[in-house]
Amino acid sequence: GAPYFSVNSSGNVAVRPHGSATMDHQEIDLLKVVNKASGGLHLPLPLIIRFPDVLKNRLESIQSAFNSAVESQGYGSNYQGVYPVKCNQDRFVVEDIVKFGSSFRFGLEAGSKPELLLAMSCLCKGSSESLLICNGFKDAEYISLALIARKLSLNTVIVLEQEEELDSVIDMSRKLGVLPVVGVRAKLRTKHSGHFGSTSGEKGKFGLTTTQILRVVKKLEKYGMLDCLQLLHFHIGSQIPSTALLADGVSEAAQIYTELVRLGASMKVIDIGGGLGIDYDGSKSTDSDLSVGYTLEEYAAAVVQAVKHVCDHKSVKHPVICSESGRAIVSHHSVLVFEAVSSSRYSVPSLSSFDVQQLGEHLPEEAHSDYHNLLQSAFIGDREACLAYADQLKQRCVDQFKAGALDIEQLASVDGLCDLAAKTSDPVTTYHINLSVFTSIPDFWGIGQLFPIMPIHRLDQRPNANGVLSDLTCDSDGKINRFISGESSLPLHEVGGKNGMKYYLGMFLGGAYEEALGGVHNLFGAPSVIRVSQSDGLHGFAVTRAMPGPSCSDVLRAVNHEPQVMFQTLKDRIEEYIGDDDEGGVMAGGIAESFHNMPYLTVGSSCFLTVANEY
Ligand code: PLP
Repeated sequence: GAPYFSVNSSGNVAVRPHGSATMDHQEIDLLKVVNKASGGLHLPLPLIIRFPDVLKNRLESIQSAFNSAVESQGYGSNYQGVYPVKCNQDRFVVEDIVKFGSSFRFGLEAGSKPELLLAMSCLCKGSSESLLICNGFKDAEYISLALIARKLSLNTVIVLEQEEELDSVIDMSRKLGVLPVVGVRAKLRTKHSGHFGSTSGEKGKFGLTTTQILRVVKKLEKYGMLDCLQLLHFHIGSQIPSTALLADGVSEAAQIYTELVRLGASMKVIDIGGGLGIDYDGSKSTDSDLSVGYTLEEYAAAVVQAVKHVCDHKSVKHPVICSESGRAIVSHHSVLVFEAVSSSRYSVPSLSSFDVQQLGEHLPEEAHSDYHNLLQSAFIGDREACLAYADQLKQRCVDQFKAGALDIEQLASVDGLCDLAAKTSDPVTTYHINLSVFTSIPDFWGIGQLFPIMPIHRLDQRPNANGVLSDLTCDSDGKINRFISGESSLPLHEVGGKNGMKYYLGMFLGGAYEEALGGVHNLFGAPSVIRVSQSDGLHGFAVTRAMPGPSCSDVLRAVNHEPQVMFQTLKDRIEEYIGDDDEGGVMAGGIAESFHNMPYLTVGSSCFLTVANEY
């Protein structure tokens, strides 16, 4: 997370939203932000903390890397980026990007009709020169919206993703009386071999082949519209691992660009798509999807050099360079904070709590040797043998139980003993986290992507356990057992510690894609969100926006239930079975409150049922 995150002298994660700590820009203590949100503002966790100043710093850093490359290489045009809204469509994220980027005409990219609508309305507040790139599969309605945007003086480019889209563009632009600006997305031969490049290359899912591009040129020419073709776009995939691959792709695209110039198109912009990678694991390695082997400056220099080289060779005027970096703009700006509420290690019963001796005496004859071998191997610390004997013992006893030779208490004791053997043999502790992996870290579940996860406090204390994280959903995939260290567990502290303090973990670099992809598995909705800026106040920060996550009613509505009707049904039932006296009133009030609350655990606070139990 450098340069935005570090550890301060209190052992807490410190945030440097401006990328450095100076007299003007002090660090923000993340634990203080969480305490303010959950204490002062009563916002339930999990919590997404957004730092708009990080967004500003990311945009300015990308712009300045390209400006330096343009200047140092004597490039004859400039860089003008766009943000692909699909990476995080949150209104405040998009509005911040438009605001922070308007002085250097930073624009937006849309890939669907709702994204286009939001990009159109947001860009009305930005610079009129900012690009509005329309990507994705398009129908006539999408195309007419894009043409209306052009009529509204937004700098809109319709990028053809499929050849057939051109007919609609020609037809609709005539109907609406507006000249379109058209781009083509080229299907490059350059192939990115990582996970994110699986749709790139000649057989890739997106873009036009050279044959199709030539047909587009011919058709535009036929309609006297070749002037409208002004942009060439490609995208070889996210997390491009090296500048060598990047330069290869950009050079290939630049050749197509210069050919389009030769064929008479009024080319102005080369749009290199997304793919500017970020370093999730700090390794700077080029052979994993978790990292990339270049800096921002090296990325910009490689792009500018590749375009310049090809254009100079073909004596073509240098185009405006546009990029559609998403991950690199929004990943760093938010931190997901969640609580570890308990851990299995500390709730494991001790061996003495089972009457081991008595159990041994009551076990059927066949199980005796496994039982003694299990105890023996546990005694000498032979983990593998211990687990093997536990398995055999259990199997034998289950068979006996099925045959009616063992009673349920004996079977429960055997289960307990075997669980204990498994837990004492396995040094990994399961931490239960008040979070849904499916909602908040969907890429971990879906594509095995790893994110930096760590406690946000107690970092001056040596962790005393190795933990895996198990979420709230009743789904075995809802656990995190792979980490950026390459290990299958994370060094963690004891939950609660000496004074019962809450234990908070943070997931970093998840600002791109995770919010947009997360679903409502088990009806766990999105986390609460706060927006935090630096200020001169006591703690050096101010909360500029606070929003609790969706309530149970909200998530129920999302799957077509009607909370009002549901509540009335339950209230009628209460009146019928319990009455409309005090007890019924408390129950109805409690149910109403549950509809209103977030679906996550409310750890430590009292529940209406404890009151209801008094009746
Ligand atoms: N542009 C297009 C067309 C994309 O498909 C994507 C993502 O896959 C992006 C931009 C953003 O890519 P990244 O987040 O790697 O910058």
